[in-house]
Amino acid sequence: MKTLALIAHDNKKREIVEWAQANKTSLAPFELCGTGHTAQMIADATGLDVKPFLSGPMGGDQQIGAKIAEGEIDGVVFFWDPLQTQPHDPDVKALLRIATMYDIPIATNKATADKIIK
Ligand code: PGA
Repeated sequence: MKTLALIAHDNKKREIVEWAQANKTSLAPFELCGTGHTAQMIADATGLDVKPFLSGPMGGDQQIGAKIAEGEIDGVVFFWDPLQTQPHDPDVKALLRIATMYDIPIATNKATADKIIK
């Protein structure tokens, strides 16, 4: 089974929840995980099982990055906020770097997420 990690910054949470609801059937075959609040919100909205890591600012992005390095994550949907600086910006950059380095598909907007889920 393929593992997909789901992450959204606060201003993007509504968007990722709506995206997950619209793609619930396509997401169902994946093993899902995500940063704390994102995982909880998607699980509540869809009924899908989403394994929560720590919240992003508390280290969740780094946990997901470590799982990528260990070969345990096959794709990431990461709706980061391009309009607001994040306290954990170094972690965000590190996650983008590690996903790029390990050639893991990482969708940072809905148009790309639609493509990788198909
Ligand atoms: P959260 O973390 O899902 O726990 O809010 C997301 C983030 O800010 O990276």
